[in-house]
Amino acid sequence: MIPRLKPSLDWRELVAALTPPRKDDVERFEQAFARKMGQKHAITFPYGRTGLILLLEALGLKNKEVICPAYTCVVVPHAIVYSDNKPVFVDSQEEDFNMNLDLVPEVITEQTGAIIATSIFGYPVNLDKLDAIHRKYPNIYIIQDCAHSFAAEWKGRAVQKEGIAAIYGLNISKLMTSIFGGMVTTDDDKFAKKLIKLRDIRLKPALLTKSLRRFLYLVAVYPTFWGPVYGLINRLERSGLLNRFVKYYDESKVDMPGDYLEKMSRIEARVGLVQLKKYDSIVENRRKMAKFYDDNLRDISELHLPPIVEGATYSHYVPRVSDRNKILRKFLKKAIQLGWLIEYCIPNMDSYNVQSTSANNSNDYRVAEKLSTNTINIPIYAQIKKKEAEHIVQQVWKK
Ligand SMILES: *Cc1c(COP(=O)(O)O)cnc(C)c1O
Repeated sequence: MIPRLKPSLDWRELVAALTPPRKDDVERFEQAFARKMGQKHAITFPYGRTGLILLLEALGLKNKEVICPAYTCVVVPHAIVYSDNKPVFVDSQEEDFNMNLDLVPEVITEQTGAIIATSIFGYPVNLDKLDAIHRKYPNIYIIQDCAHSFAAEWKGRAVQKEGIAAIYGLNISKLMTSIFGGMVTTDDDKFAKKLIKLRDIRLKPALLTKSLRRFLYLVAVYPTFWGPVYGLINRLERSGLLNRFVKYYDESKVDMPGDYLEKMSRIEARVGLVQLKKYDSIVENRRKMAKFYDDNLRDISELHLPPIVEGATYSHYVPRVSDRNKILRKFLKKAIQLGWLIEYCIPNMDSYNVQSTSANNSNDYRVAEKLSTNTINIPIYAQIKKKEAEHIVQQVWKK
């Protein structure tokens, strides 16, 4: 079975996990991460979403409107709500799945406190347009969501550096991982100090039990992504058996994991340090794979291929199709799990259904709605073997 994603883990992460903890593990990870992103400060959190909550609080935003894409990970508006602010959604654009920045001025009001600019699937957000918005509204904070796009570049400019701060997610489905975890980077000394202070007040220290939980999770990840085991899990999943245990999220609820206010553990920081050293090669491989798919899938009429963009990090490779389920089923029969990506348009979810409470109508999110139903994911993880990629291309599509 070829899984839809796979973390780039080998024996080095296990060794790091088993190394006796040092007092400064987390600080060393923060310093190395800041260096890699070319920023002055990097601040760890238990999840990216926790970073976003405290970041909004540290900016002094409360009862404000925070603009974010209608098509993004649902934890982003969850974090906005948890920070006592209100998410305001903006539709996406078809060409690169990102928020349509031309629509942003239409939703800016006196109450707008921040704009979350997401470089979704690794496609760098258009910094020229973002600059123009920022010049016109200098009091609105720009926050970069780099969960899919660590160090992605728009025309040579690193996206994470544009704005007051950037957030990153570090779970095993991300470009690089610290088991779980999140990060905020910033170049602003005063703001960094404020955020660190707030974090130390609001978050509990990581207990030993958290390190142990994270270690057991990490150890379980290795066999899970091994082909035969993964195939078995996938069959269980399809039979609906697993669903009862691992329901991914509840559409009707805005909530957070139980440990979202417990600091990153040292074991996570040590694994993150190893991953950071691999980061360049991880992205390089993804770029190569994106190019490979672009060259080899181009003439397949049922696929509308994603763009190749200089500076993109390709956290996912996302063609659009007209009958998603048919293609997913066809690939599963060949032991390839494509999977879909973000399968929802957030303002249409029960928990965010804004239609009834505002002047919005569903037409406002036309593109996001479409993307939520017609995107598929072709495996593009850094460790995918050439043979597997060729299997995906030839065995299935070229027949
Ligand atoms: C993963 C992700 C985050 C942060 O996720 P956490 O699970 O809270 O670490 C933020 N934005 C996007 C777009 C993501 O995919």
